[in-house]
Amino acid sequence: MGVADSDVQPRVGHQALPDAVKLWADILDYVKPRVSREGFETWLAPTRGRALSNGVLEVEVPNSFFADWLSQHYSAEVRAALTSVSQQELSLSFQPRDSADTGVLIRRAPVRRPAARQNGYRLQSHLTFENFVVGESNRLAVAASRSVAERPGASYNPLFIYGGVGLGKTHLAQAIGNLAVAKKPGLKVYYTAADDLFLELIQAIEKNTRLEFKDKYRSLDLLLLDDVHYLVGKERLQEEVFYIFNSLQGAGSQIVFTSDRPPQDIPALEGRLASRLGSGLVVDIQAPELETRIAILKQKAAMDHAELPDDVAYFIAARVRTSVRALEGSWIRLLALASLDARPVTVALAEEALRDLVKEEEPVDHNRIIRACADYFGVTLEDITNGGRTKQLALARQVAMYLMRASLSLSLKEIGGLFGNKDHTTVMHAIKRVGDLRTSDPAFAAKIEKLSKGISRGELS
Ligand code: ADP
Ligand code: MG
Repeated sequence: MGVADSDVQPRVGHQALPDAVKLWADILDYVKPRVSREGFETWLAPTRGRALSNGVLEVEVPNSFFADWLSQHYSAEVRAALTSVSQQELSLSFQPRDSADTGVLIRRAPVRRPAARQNGYRLQSHLTFENFVVGESNRLAVAASRSVAERPGASYNPLFIYGGVGLGKTHLAQAIGNLAVAKKPGLKVYYTAADDLFLELIQAIEKNTRLEFKDKYRSLDLLLLDDVHYLVGKERLQEEVFYIFNSLQGAGSQIVFTSDRPPQDIPALEGRLASRLGSGLVVDIQAPELETRIAILKQKAAMDHAELPDDVAYFIAARVRTSVRALEGSWIRLLALASLDARPVTVALAEEALRDLVKEEEPVDHNRIIRACADYFGVTLEDITNGGRTKQLALARQVAMYLMRASLSLSLKEIGGLFGNKDHTTVMHAIKRVGDLRTSDPAFAAKIEKLSKGISRGELS
């Protein structure tokens, strides 16, 4: 409800509750380490406790857009904080700072999260194939995922999806589950992440419920196990996953794994488990190309019912390259900024919104890569970009092309253009050669790794 008096002084509640400002500050302290930094700065930092009475904590937020956003996206974290910080039964009300807008009320809810855990499958309904933008970078992974969702156990089993942080692995795993259940209601589907599985296992051991634990997993039709790189160094967990794997596979049930790297690169994974993980189909998700990044931004904007002009989409997509999560974060930040003063979404505003984010990514550009490779191979910039033909030069050039493709997601044609208009097949050949060398020659692979890390850390410039 709107607050008639523009009372910004904390009113102290009638019980032994701390005042509203302090209570909300404590809640924010609790929430801060549990949400993303940008999320916190964008949505939570501009809020303050305003009043506390009749079991309702009123929190002042910049406008009603914030009120909606906070309750849609942060209510779980805020509720958990409320439960942990206050000993009282409290509700929370977000109140826009100066409009007579109705605020949004969040009731303190039971500890278990509602929507996100429907049916015990632990599937989130918004993570679907429909909401997943397909591009070159993920086409194969999406095709394989769809096929698995449509015929669990019958196509690729296990399916192993790997890719960098924030590129959509969890989204895809969830989409598989959602589609599989939609196609075949009653299918026993379960999503969990390897770290949650670990906690569950530990509890089962402590409470002596290992049998129930085993039965639960053994009886599934489709297991979605996220982030299996977490298994590294956890032998007990590996053993359990090995067991679950064998019994599911024996029963013809489907398993989907995700990881931040391919199975053979998960060090110290017991050999027999590593080979099992990779025994079906292994597909990767790459960082999206520019066109896909633009499409993703457009899709996110459409989901928020917001207008995103083409030039603004291009501006953001050209700058935020390495993770879809960061891309999404940038859009949300822009949206928040636009809503703060009811400003239109323009390139200038996007520039303001991205200021901090972009700083982190900007250092890597094609010139840095070329310079770093020239340094590393002891050749000149001139030679590398123009036609010099010695073996050393060719390799330096090929490595530069490879690194550009890997970290800048430039098109083959764009890369060719930077090396005296080489055509795209030459670039493709270069990338393939470096890729092959990496696989066949570990020392070379280590060199490339080092070079690439150096470039992104800004050591060579
Ligand atoms: P990962 O598990 O690989 O770290 P997530 O699946 O959590 O990444 O994805 C991060 C965010 O980016 C999620 O909000 C997800 O919905 C979104 N996302 C990732 N890829 C796409 C895509 N191709 N289309 C639409 N949204 C995507
Ligand atoms: Mg994930």
